[in-house]
Amino acid sequence: MQFDAEWLLLALAPVFLACIGWEVWHLARTRPGAALYSWPDTLCNAALALMHQGADKLAWLVAIPVYAWVYHHWRIVNWQPGWAAWLTLFVAQDLLYYVFHRASHRVRWLWAAHVVHHSSGRLNLSTAFRQSLMYPVAGMWVFWIPLAVLGFTPMQIVGIVLVNLAFQFFVHTQAIGKLGWLEYVINTPSMHRVHHARNERYIDRNYAGVLAIWDRLFGSYVEEDAHEPPVYGIVKPLDSYNPLKASFHEWIAMARDCARMTDSRTRLAALFAPPDWCARHDALAMQRATDSAVTENNTEGDLGSRKT
Ligand SMILES: [Zn+2]
Ligand SMILES: [Zn+2]
Repeated sequence: MQFDAEWLLLALAPVFLACIGWEVWHLARTRPGAALYSWPDTLCNAALALMHQGADKLAWLVAIPVYAWVYHHWRIVNWQPGWAAWLTLFVAQDLLYYVFHRASHRVRWLWAAHVVHHSSGRLNLSTAFRQSLMYPVAGMWVFWIPLAVLGFTPMQIVGIVLVNLAFQFFVHTQAIGKLGWLEYVINTPSMHRVHHARNERYIDRNYAGVLAIWDRLFGSYVEEDAHEPPVYGIVKPLDSYNPLKASFHEWIAMARDCARMTDSRTRLAALFAPPDWCARHDALAMQRATDSAVTENNTEGDLGSRKT
């Protein structure tokens, strides 16, 4: 019987749950009273994982035929089975993951889905389960199309995407410190703690999937500083353990912002500019209104003083 790559994460569920059990036990001994786990938070994370699994199953129904079509019509390499093919697939997908992840923080349409992963104020292994059922709508699967152009089959693509995601489970922990030379090579718990932090100097940094090299190459790497512990969560806290609210709150906010914009340029910006664009746009409009009111008052004052 052939193993279906789509079921990889579910097949690994016992390993994930065993690691969570170890982390809870370990933290209870080493950081008693730190309350790094809470039942409502963990249950919300589990619900989000199940919702994401369901949505992903449906998404593959659409994405796999697209990958197959691109593979048959546009592929530029015919790989011989072997380590060179697997290594290329792994490195290329990891680079594409970096691009997807960085775009997910800088394009609001993608952030609307990705925010789910960041909206808990806690960080533990169960935080890895916080995934969005809206990723297929946001278009995450589109980022893997270049792999089909590179000559990889749909099942190879699905497999490597899920291997990358499975690896990332292990970096969501406060139970492991820095890992020496490995910090230069792979995404580590220390590196990913920075990614989940909302401290000014940590925000929008360390986008790595498996390899740490992309952040160092493209200037998005920041080291975890022992003098500045990460503060987890998003700038505007969600304050809810409702998985539906976690999944849709940013989509609703984005739709509202888009609707209140007055022309097509600002409407497009509300959807595709960085997530904080609307707030900066509003602040600028407020500043302009204040400036023109001050100018008007000054002009009236000048006219009044000339009349006297
Ligand atoms: Zn992120
Ligand atoms: Zn994460």
